[in-house]
Amino acid sequence: MISVLAHELTHIASGQPDSLRPLFRAIGRRAAIRTGLRIQGQRAEELACDLVGVMAAAPIHQSDAKLGSRCLAPPGPRLRT
Ligand SMILES: [Zn+2]
Repeated sequence: MISVLAHELTHIASGQPDSLRPLFRAIGRRAAIRTGLRIQGQRAEELACDLVGVMAAAPIHQSDAKLGSRCLAPPGPRLRT
């Protein structure tokens, strides 16, 4: 959910003057070089917004993973009854 919100807020932040267009182009160019795919225009914008979404959600997933590993870990000797 956080990633979707961050994705959409990035579109909104770009606004009518397309102020984030240079960022979208740079991310699209780098992705195109690395993948060999053609990534321009709206595709570059969507990719950049997805990247922001992943970056926004990453700390939450890391925190959840730590919490989950603690919850799933077998109880230590002091916790056994
Ligand atoms: Zn989008």
